[in-house]
Amino acid sequence: MGRVMARMAMLDIDVLLLSVGADLPWLIGYQAMPLERLTMLVLDTRGASTLVVPRLEAPRVEAAGDLFVVRPWEETEDPIAIVAALVGPARSIAIDDRTWARFVLDLQAAVPGAAAWRRGSVVTGPLRAVKDDAEVAALQRAGAAADRVAAQLQSGAIALVGRTEAEVSADIGRRLLAEGHDKVNFAIVASGPNAASPHHDAGSRVIQRGEVVLCDFGGTMAGYCSDITRCVHTGPVPSELAAAYSVLHEAQAAAVAAAVVGASCEAVDQTARAVIADGGFGDAFIHRTGHGIGCEEHEDPYIVAGNALTLEPGHAFSIEPGIYLDGRWGIRLEDIVVATERGPLACNDADHDLVVVDA
Ligand code: ZN
Ligand code: ZN
Ligand code: ZN
Repeated sequence: MGRVMARMAMLDIDVLLLSVGADLPWLIGYQAMPLERLTMLVLDTRGASTLVVPRLEAPRVEAAGDLFVVRPWEETEDPIAIVAALVGPARSIAIDDRTWARFVLDLQAAVPGAAAWRRGSVVTGPLRAVKDDAEVAALQRAGAAADRVAAQLQSGAIALVGRTEAEVSADIGRRLLAEGHDKVNFAIVASGPNAASPHHDAGSRVIQRGEVVLCDFGGTMAGYCSDITRCVHTGPVPSELAAAYSVLHEAQAAAVAAAVVGASCEAVDQTARAVIADGGFGDAFIHRTGHGIGCEEHEDPYIVAGNALTLEPGHAFSIEPGIYLDGRWGIRLEDIVVATERGPLACNDADHDLVVVDA
């Protein structure tokens, strides 16, 4: 809260309004229900801060000392008017990027005077991107839990051949929960030619013997996300695929090693891209190298060409290059990494090879 207030002062922002989305739980540990009833934290650098919350949700709010007061609103009250009165004659207001347009438009009409409106992420984005020690530990615990599921995939404990992608996806989801996640965010299972689509929806295709199965899965554990991709092969690996995988493996390892404090995000992306281009698959690496991760599975900083941001200790992100040949196969290798003064700290260590499974 102190860091948020200091950054608001630095940016000359009087009031920060937080609603649904990850900023609110990141800051106060409370997740607003995404309802038609407005929940909004009014953070005010000029005085007291207030959490405006529907009366029926108020019992879920944990007291936070004197950081903010709770203002429950009754079914017949107008929460927009309550928030507008709290905001008062602010000159500069930042509002949660995820606030629904109906609330933003109503608030803009209700707040008196001609305030300047900015995105809430100008305040929260850079702060959320830099993880403190407790957050790094939470990412590591979530990563270790995802690793245990990846190990089950690689050991053959998860049956593949003869099952549909959707069945395997549901199985992986159950295992993420069994290993300690509170919530499954996604479990991509893409087999054979389907793996050429990076965000393939696991569907009715039955997994065959002798093909690649790309599994990209993650969830939320104690408020922080995991995200890992491993590919396995249901039978001996054809030499062309083995050669491509070794290029991918080298690219991923090189980008992880390049993710040091002071390196730019775009340089890390370029490191992976150069290895894949040298291997002859430049056109087949069709997405950025990675995304930040924390309370959300995708957040700042993005490891992408054009992002000159330099890595700081505590920046946490994925390194996940891929090679996709339309209609044939696709492969991706993903770990979560934290930049630290002692070098890149990986949150995943499941086997990085294209493991052959008899499953
Ligand atoms: Zn993705
Ligand atoms: Zn992923
Ligand atoms: Zn990812």
